[in-house]
Amino acid sequence: MKLIFEKSVPGRHGVLPPTNDVASTIHIKKELLRSSDAALPELSELDVVRHFTELSRRNFGVDTNFYPLGSCTMKYNPKVAERIAAYPGFAHLHPLMPQLRMGGILTQGALEVLYDMDKMLCEITAMAGFTMQPMAGAHGELTGIMIMAAYHRDKGNKKTTVLIPDSRGVVDLNALKKTVNSETAGIMLTCPNTLGIFEPDIKEICKIIHSVDGLCYYDGANLNAIVGKARPGDFGFDIVHLNLHKTFATPHGGGGPGAGPVGVVEKLLDFLPVSLVVKRDDGTFALEYDRPKSIGYIAPFYGNFAIILRAYVYILMLGKEGLKRVAENAVLNANYVKEKLKKYYELPFGQVCKHECVFSASRQIETGIHAIDIAKGLIDRGYHPPTVYFPSIVKESIMIEPTETESKETLDAFIQTMIELAEMAKQEPEKLTAAPITTPVGRLDETAAAKNVDIAQL
Ligand SMILES: *Cc1c(COP(=O)(O)O)cnc(C)c1O
Repeated sequence: MKLIFEKSVPGRHGVLPPTNDVASTIHIKKELLRSSDAALPELSELDVVRHFTELSRRNFGVDTNFYPLGSCTMKYNPKVAERIAAYPGFAHLHPLMPQLRMGGILTQGALEVLYDMDKMLCEITAMAGFTMQPMAGAHGELTGIMIMAAYHRDKGNKKTTVLIPDSRGVVDLNALKKTVNSETAGIMLTCPNTLGIFEPDIKEICKIIHSVDGLCYYDGANLNAIVGKARPGDFGFDIVHLNLHKTFATPHGGGGPGAGPVGVVEKLLDFLPVSLVVKRDDGTFALEYDRPKSIGYIAPFYGNFAIILRAYVYILMLGKEGLKRVAENAVLNANYVKEKLKKYYELPFGQVCKHECVFSASRQIETGIHAIDIAKGLIDRGYHPPTVYFPSIVKESIMIEPTETESKETLDAFIQTMIELAEMAKQEPEKLTAAPITTPVGRLDETAAAKNVDIAQL
């Protein structure tokens, strides 16, 4: 049998570009072809509906329960953002549509979203330009480091080291001064850090790095803690990545789709990846590829467009004042939980936190209870556990990020549950070490689950 793919497919929106010649003819070996029909199940519509409804009810998500998973910002994703992302004009776009590349009429709306988003993120972060392409925060970090390298290579700088401070509280300026030298390419800083603490000497840190022509990279994955309130560019940063998931719409956990746009200051604009959306003199939008100093492609096509679109809707919906309230409520909620629970759980860093707070189960260890037992106890009570055992600099850490979208009632109910678990750890620890008892298989042997797929699939 021979499958021929048409060289070009005339479609409603014009002619698609030719497919890759290598893939245009596929031969399937005879022994691989089916000789009789596949035994597909015959089911009624009702059976199928029940099957999929049952599957959907096994989901645990922000739409069903409180999900205070530290550093993942599992906030509510407004349904209007989903609805707009599903508009046929957006949802049916294909990256190979020639109009997209050439900035044709059918794709002007999508290009305008990317262009406007660039401008809005510049305003939010005090950067000069963004690439929308990185598909996650980690991908943004890679892109940022590649831009850093391209800058130094272009200038003929001999640089060998990038500093990445351990989030042990805050950066020690004296230690930093001793470490920085002419080979320092730059620094990567997470602020607020994974303890939810804002770096007080941030401007001074940037000055020290700049004094040796190093670049300052801001990990803005958790920008929801400061969005609308403070801008990394104003602190002195040169490169910023944002997690549009986490910070704006789209929750993060579970490794779903994300977007990690990277913004840079003026002197780094030339190094941004191809392509960039530009606005032509006649007001139309096009993709620009002629960028000789660019680090090149870091993703196929134009990034995770639908995630960018959701964030775009979110920003426009909230506006300048609304975005400030995002940061205020994220910080207020985290501090509320921190203050209410510090009597019951050890709080290694007591200062005002930003979007998350980190407790330790070290007091509970007296009765043999660990952070993992508190986490499992929460599962029985309908909560997704906080992040446990990260950051690793806090022993038995329990990292709670309530996010800005939760009500006081939800937080109060969670706080009450955490207090009950602290009591249980004292009075009836054996009940906690047996948790969870409400899940189909109870407490998993996590080591075995990692090694044995059958167990993991339960
Ligand atoms: C989540 C996070 C990242 C990574 O983002 P991904 O989209 O998961 O790759 C990086 N830095 C910080 C501080 C984060 O919280």
